Amino acid sequence: MSKTVLITGGSRGIGRATALLCAQQGWNIIFSYVGNPDAAQETRTACEQAGAKVISHRCDVTSETDVIALFAAGIKSFGRIDAVVNNAGIVAPAARLADMDIARMKSVFDTNVLGAYLVARETARHMSKSRGGAGGTLVNMSSMAARLGSPGEYVDYAGSKGAIDAMTIGLARELGPEGIRVNAIRPGIIDTDIHASGGRPDRAHELGPTCPLGRAGTAREVADSVIWLVGDQSSFVTGAIIDVSGGR
Ligand code: NAP
Repeated sequence: MSKTVLITGGSRGIGRATALLCAQQGWNIIFSYVGNPDAAQETRTACEQAGAKVISHRCDVTSETDVIALFAAGIKSFGRIDAVVNNAGIVAPAARLADMDIARMKSVFDTNVLGAYLVARETARHMSKSRGGAGGTLVNMSSMAARLGSPGEYVDYAGSKGAIDAMTIGLARELGPEGIRVNAIRPGIIDTDIHASGGRPDRAHELGPTCPLGRAGTAREVADSVIWLVGDQSSFVTGAIIDVSGGR
């Protein structure tokens, strides 16, 4: 029987690349989007063409009701969720902290921290063996910003990703006895739409050459590490935070 992966933010970027790779490797997929139904449809079509059973589901990760409904939809369709990729995330336009207003900071922390914690909580509720679950894997999407701090651009975003690293370490220990492995990826500069959301559509091309490997990464290169962490080939790995950053 095929295993099922739930991916938040699967409509674009790293989430889409992960959905496609999972589809090619025989997983059932439920992925979420929030504001781009057309992009979600493109991901869905590509995954179906790879032979996967796919559900796309609108879910704002900042809404507890939406996150609970996302997991319920996956279980209703596939019976069980074996892996979760906690990927949805945002940046706000580049600014210094002194110029950030509260609305912007709340939006970044609500999505990247509270949203990710809600998704992790539902993962724990559904997969924990002590609650009748079958165990599984959780992969959190952090960022190299958690280590570099993003001065002058996104110190709010960097702090939100620092929280993801701490959550990964704590949950790996909390959920290991429940049969759930918890790991994270710290992507570096990856060529996706997120840079345009931050007001710098050319950021990946401008900063890529400054990385030791001399270029920005692709969403597929991040997905290649995610798929290793969700699958059985990493069966003794938990609490790991893997830099996929070209050495940045
Ligand atoms: P992206 O191309 O901008 O895609 C973001 C995805 O998240 C989209 O599918 C979007 O849905 C979804 N999303 C945004 N807000 C959401 C919300 N409130 N609820 C649910 N879904 C939401 O971004 P990406 O570059 O692939 O980034 C994916 C993850 O990698 C993020 O956590 C990001 O912080 C992290 N990361 C990226 C980079 C990079 O350089 N690209 C580097 C380090 C870390 P819609 O399509 O419906 O808007």
